[in-house]
Amino acid sequence: MKPKVGIPRALLYYNYFPMWKAYFEELGAEVVLSDLTNKRILNEGVNCCVDDACLPMKVFHGHIIDLKDRADYLFIPRLISVKKNEYICPKFCGLPDMVLNSVKGLPPVIDCTINMRNGSSSFRKAVLEVGKRFTQDYRRIYRAYNKAIAQLRDFESLMEKGATPLEAMKGELPRHEGFKYTVGLIGHPYNIYDNYVSMRIIDKLRARGINVVTQDMVCTRELDKIAGNFTKPMFWSFGKKIMAASQYLIEKRQVRGIIYLVAFGCGLDALVGDLVERRIRRNGLPFCLLTIDEHTGEAGIDTRLEAFIDMLEWRDAAKC
Ligand code: SF4
Repeated sequence: MKPKVGIPRALLYYNYFPMWKAYFEELGAEVVLSDLTNKRILNEGVNCCVDDACLPMKVFHGHIIDLKDRADYLFIPRLISVKKNEYICPKFCGLPDMVLNSVKGLPPVIDCTINMRNGSSSFRKAVLEVGKRFTQDYRRIYRAYNKAIAQLRDFESLMEKGATPLEAMKGELPRHEGFKYTVGLIGHPYNIYDNYVSMRIIDKLRARGINVVTQDMVCTRELDKIAGNFTKPMFWSFGKKIMAASQYLIEKRQVRGIIYLVAFGCGLDALVGDLVERRIRRNGLPFCLLTIDEHTGEAGIDTRLEAFIDMLEWRDAAKC
């Protein structure tokens, strides 16, 4: 029987799932996913996680509880850096320990360390270390690695063509015609693409005839070019991408306004949000900051969204 590897549909699932799925399947494992985020998952995560954690961390804990009795292994990598000379939020570094401490009765956790601060050799080392749990055939591990990287490239290229991660995982592209205008939506992928956490913000905007562009839909080369011109280098990968994407959307004037979805309790969002907001307002674009936590009601978010859309429409009407 194939060993089952559990991957939670939370945090960096929205960035890397196709890659890890291809990798584990090529190694002969079956990949098991947690359910889509729902009220039960959120409540269980909130109940077992430390109080001062941010919402995405609590959601992640809920997904672990949902998965733990259905998998032979849980995949919770210890992420320090996903790009040369950059870091990600320190909470990712302690994530396996946080989960092991908060959730009892877990199957073995695959907690390989990924630290690409000095280049990608650590990633290859982690891949090898994980692969050896499933096979001693090194050629098979490297084949799985190459397939995984190819899957990631395909996935990212679909997103750059306008697909959300969930659409890209299905190999779908959304329609591009028939929208009144385009709005930028920025924020951490696990906030903006998780339909329960974001309260289906992308679907709601599209249903109102508004095309949505997120930071993952902008060409990575363009973002790196913009980030290269920041007065000081930004060493947080996510913050850098969010800042560069907002700058790109302002400069190209492709969007009528920008929405930033932030998680309450996120230190990075508090800093980057302020920088992004100043830059957007300086350039005269409408801006909407939506803060979410476990108590946020959908009606409140809908009202803010409606008000923002109304404002865009009034501005349009005033220009005529
Ligand atoms: S970047 Fe913010 S939202 Fe993401 S894990 Fe860290 S604290 Fe939480």
